[in-house]
Amino acid sequence: MPHPNDPKLRSFIPVDPASDFPIQNLPYGVFSTKDGLAPRVGVAIGDYVLDLWQLVQDCRIDVVEPAVFAAAMLNPFMALGPTVWSRTRARISELLRADHSELRDNPKLRQRALVPMADVKLHMPIAVAGYTDFYSSKEHATNVGVMFRGKDNALQPNWLHMPIGYNGRASTVVVSGTKVRRPRGQLKPPGAELPSFGPCKRLDFELEIGVVIGQPSAMGEMLPERQAEEMIFGFVILNDWSARDIQQWEYVPLGPFQAKAFATSISPWIVTREALEPFRRHGPEQDPPPLPYLRQAQPNNYDMKLDVGLRAAQMNEAQTICRTNFKYMYWSSVQQLVHHASSGCAMNVGDLLGSGTISGPEKHQRGSLLEISWNGTESVELPRGIKRTFLEDGDSLVMRGWCQGDGFRVGFGEVEGTIMPAE
Ligand code: CA
Repeated sequence: MPHPNDPKLRSFIPVDPASDFPIQNLPYGVFSTKDGLAPRVGVAIGDYVLDLWQLVQDCRIDVVEPAVFAAAMLNPFMALGPTVWSRTRARISELLRADHSELRDNPKLRQRALVPMADVKLHMPIAVAGYTDFYSSKEHATNVGVMFRGKDNALQPNWLHMPIGYNGRASTVVVSGTKVRRPRGQLKPPGAELPSFGPCKRLDFELEIGVVIGQPSAMGEMLPERQAEEMIFGFVILNDWSARDIQQWEYVPLGPFQAKAFATSISPWIVTREALEPFRRHGPEQDPPPLPYLRQAQPNNYDMKLDVGLRAAQMNEAQTICRTNFKYMYWSSVQQLVHHASSGCAMNVGDLLGSGTISGPEKHQRGSLLEISWNGTESVELPRGIKRTFLEDGDSLVMRGWCQGDGFRVGFGEVEGTIMPAE
């Protein structure tokens, strides 16, 4: 049987070369339709969603516990572990292949199991157990450091020695398409003697990739590189919405709190680690070399293109304001996970790790408005004379990401969010 990542594979379902969902991808999500059935697990293929619950009921997929596909979240399936993930993906690939007749020549089953993407509602794909956000792009950390502390103290002394992070809120992680209300908070603009309470005036996004943890680790246990990697089920695009003015007043001494707690958006499709395997790359050289527990024997970065579009309410389509790549990250997702567990912190099925804002070395590769507008001093020019330094009510932010294969791309779809006025 050919490997599901084989670039020569084709599905009997036509897939445009520009689609994010060829047979080489097969990302998992949770969807519902108007037929009254509860949200359940599906896989994206071209312009369709493959209904896995229909397939297990027809005894086409063997997963030990078929009910995992009737769940409104992927957590029960993820808990079955990497051998089952891999076997299931191989079987789905086989069922969708152009040269495999089982589903292709069964019109009744196709009718039940293949739902046009246009007819589905996509839901949160996981129950988020815990959400941790890292700060692992050297370019982003340097840009922010230069703005707030000056060029000579841009990177804090600890930054080159470990992946810096903080524990965020799992309760407000939402799926793409969820509207985001402008947060309120304590603000103390420069020059003000005392803080006041009100709507954020410097609302921002952060372009990130989220790692979805599919296997637990025990409290007290350290993770070797290989084990950490095998705990990763897949990846989502993540927008870590940020209130810069709230952040600036609150972040000393314990780091971000309310500035990041009001919303975090993720893409509805989880692209599996296995599907990204052909796109692995070495990250930037780490100098000084990390401590032994953080050293990597294999490449753990990915060559993944990312872009961000901004659409003001008066605009018809989004204008691209950032184009960058996940490969620039200084600390890899595997290193983040190894470090996270290193104290003895237990990891759970459904944990979500944000990579940190992904900025690259060039100006057009900056992954937040804080950097793009250089702390509000340079505005972004949009069509119709519209200018932005930070997000305004009615603005819509769209992030996309994909890995380019030979004649196909393995992508995430998009994560979109529109800003609503504060209450
Ligand atoms: Ca962040």
